[in-house]
Amino acid sequence: MLTLEEKKEKIKVRHARWYVKNKNQNKDFRKEYRVKYYVQHKEAIKERSAKYYTENRDHCREVSAIYQAQHKDKKKAYEAARYRKIREEVFSHYGNTCACCHERENVVLTIDHVNGGGCQHRRELGSKKIYKWLIDNNFPEGYQTLCRNCNEGKYRLGTCLHQNPASAIKIVDSLTINRLTKGQVRYRKIRDAVLNYYGNQCACCPESERVFLEIDHINNNGAAHRKEIGNLLTEFLYKNKFPLGYQTLCRNCNWAKYVLGTCPHQNKVPVLTIVNSSSREENAA
Ligand SMILES: [Zn+2]
Ligand SMILES: [Zn+2]
Ligand SMILES: [Zn+2]
Ligand SMILES: [Zn+2]
Repeated sequence: MLTLEEKKEKIKVRHARWYVKNKNQNKDFRKEYRVKYYVQHKEAIKERSAKYYTENRDHCREVSAIYQAQHKDKKKAYEAARYRKIREEVFSHYGNTCACCHERENVVLTIDHVNGGGCQHRRELGSKKIYKWLIDNNFPEGYQTLCRNCNEGKYRLGTCLHQNPASAIKIVDSLTINRLTKGQVRYRKIRDAVLNYYGNQCACCPESERVFLEIDHINNNGAAHRKEIGNLLTEFLYKNKFPLGYQTLCRNCNWAKYVLGTCPHQNKVPVLTIVNSSSREENAA
C-alpha cells in the first residue's frame, strides 16, 4: 500500500512524462487558452503576484538578477531590434532621406524639429525616446528627417550650409571671425592646417563642407586615445606633425563607421559606375 506522499509523487512523475511527450501538441490551442485565461483573470493574477512579491521580495530580486545576467545578450538584441523597428516606423512617415542633402543611409538619419527647440525637447524626453514619442503622438507636424551633417549645420547656423549660397557662407564666416576670441582664432588655424593635411573632403562620401568634417582614427574608434589626450585630437595631430593612421570623415560617415564598423557607402557600387556601364551598353547597341 502506497502512502499519500508516494501517491502524489507517482502522479507528479506521470504528469511530467505526459508533458514531455505531448509538449508540441496543440501548442497554439494552449497558447490561446493561456491568453484568454490571463485576460479573464488579469486583476486577480496581478494582485496575487504583487502579494507574492511583497512577501518574498529578496528571493524575487535574486531570481530576477540571475535571469537578467543569463539573458543579457538576448535582452540587448531584443532592445536593438525594437529600437530599429521604432526608427523605421518614424522615418517611413517623415521620409527615408535627408530633407536637405538627400542622404539615404538610415544609420545617419535623425529627426529635426523644424522650428527649433529640439535640445530642450530631447532633454525632457531622453535622447532615444523622441521616436517613441512621435509614434505615441500620431506623428505630429513640425518634424523632418535630416542627416547628422545637416542637423549640425542647421543647429550651428540656423540654415544648413547646403541651403546657403557661397556668398552667404563667407558673410557668416567673416561675422563670426570678428567675434572669435584669440584662442578660438588659434584653434581655427590649427584645424585648418590639420584638414589641409588629412584632406578637405570626407574620405568616404563627397561631403566637403568644413563644418561637417572630423578626424577619424583609421584602425579603431579612437576611444582609448581620446581618454588619454582628452578632447584635443586636433591639437595632438598638429603638435605631432601629422602622424599616420588618421583621415578626414564627415560626421555622417564617422558615425556610421562607429556604429557599424564600416560606413555603408563603402559596401555599394557607386551610382556613377552603374550609369556609365548602362550607357556603354546603349552605345554598343
Ligand atoms: Zn543631409
Ligand atoms: Zn544640408
Ligand atoms: Zn562622408
Ligand atoms: Zn560614408
